[in-house]
Amino acid sequence: MLKDKIQKLAAAYKADTIRIRRHLHAHPELSFQEENTVAFVADTLRSIGVDTIEPKAKTGLVALIEGKNPAKKVVALRADMDALPITEANDVPYKSTRTGVMHACGHDVHTSSLLGTARILNDLKDSFEGTVKLLFQPGEEKVPGGASMMIADNALANPRPAAIMGQHVMPLIPVGKVGFRKGMYMASADELYLTVKGKGGHGAMPETLVDPVLISAHILVALQQVVSRKADPKTPSVLSFGRVMAEGATNVIPNEVKIEGTFRTLNEDWRKKAHEQMIRIATGIAEGMGGSVDFEVRRGYPFLKNEPELTERSIQAAKAYLGEENVVDLDIWMAAEDFSYYTQEMDGCFYRLGIRNEARGIVSGVHTPTFDIDEDALGLSTGLMAWLALEELNHLP
Ligand SMILES: [Zn+2]
Ligand SMILES: [Zn+2]
Repeated sequence: MLKDKIQKLAAAYKADTIRIRRHLHAHPELSFQEENTVAFVADTLRSIGVDTIEPKAKTGLVALIEGKNPAKKVVALRADMDALPITEANDVPYKSTRTGVMHACGHDVHTSSLLGTARILNDLKDSFEGTVKLLFQPGEEKVPGGASMMIADNALANPRPAAIMGQHVMPLIPVGKVGFRKGMYMASADELYLTVKGKGGHGAMPETLVDPVLISAHILVALQQVVSRKADPKTPSVLSFGRVMAEGATNVIPNEVKIEGTFRTLNEDWRKKAHEQMIRIATGIAEGMGGSVDFEVRRGYPFLKNEPELTERSIQAAKAYLGEENVVDLDIWMAAEDFSYYTQEMDGCFYRLGIRNEARGIVSGVHTPTFDIDEDALGLSTGLMAWLALEELNHLP
């Protein structure tokens, strides 16, 4: 059976997948600077016999693994390759060799896993029909997101996949398990930058001033109405302000106040409307109080939707591969992820790979200096993805 063959290959290649992960982990590169990483990925692909490689988005690439009858159906698999500006605090043999740069979001795991998946699929290319397209993308961690640049560089064309799948490490899920969610899964994330302008001066003479601090206070309170009174209660929305700067003094009213925050939701129409309403409310308050406001919305990633039928098929395939008890349901997660750009273009399924091992103290969250994984996850991440891709190639609508 194909599933048994895949499981044997995944086990046979596990040590090498770990070796590759450790190499990537020790040599991290920041978003859009993945020159060495993408060269390493291309070399590794060639060494396993995958030669159809095309550079994309400067530090990304796509590669094709063609089975028999390659035009029958195309399924895409994606890995992100960038690291974060964090100094690693783990004392491990594969510790980052670069101060201030660390694979703290597991993108080394995604990249090494997809290379392992490629190796398995390439070994089996006489056993399946269709084509698997591999996307190794740069810059997931940084707006505008490598995914949007891959799409702009035609990574989803020639041939166009029917569906795309991606996996991401999840420190809340024990190693050996994976998590799925159908439908809405992750949020859009937009950055908000407000400059509230008034007229500063001596704190003892408010009647001669326009106080931007008080205006800002009103704006901060009023904007929460957008979430509590304007948002559909069935659509999650979050509005948080983490930076408010009024650089006056006890007796000095400043000329302006800077406010920075984030708005997140899971509906593209509502997202657009919320931006308009926030700007209208802030402008109305500032002008009503005699000041003004510059309100800049820097759009981040869209929300991430897992296509329900594709995801249901993937859940069933994962249960067949790992056993029913090792496939868990995920909650909505208000973080953002640029895989969402692909899911705006085609059916997508973004699932989570368990990497937690409490007994060994592997519990740190992503984006922390102590993040690490139980590398046993690399024994299943490669084969599961190969299996999901082949199951999807076999599914014809
Ligand atoms: Zn991240
Ligand atoms: Zn990530």
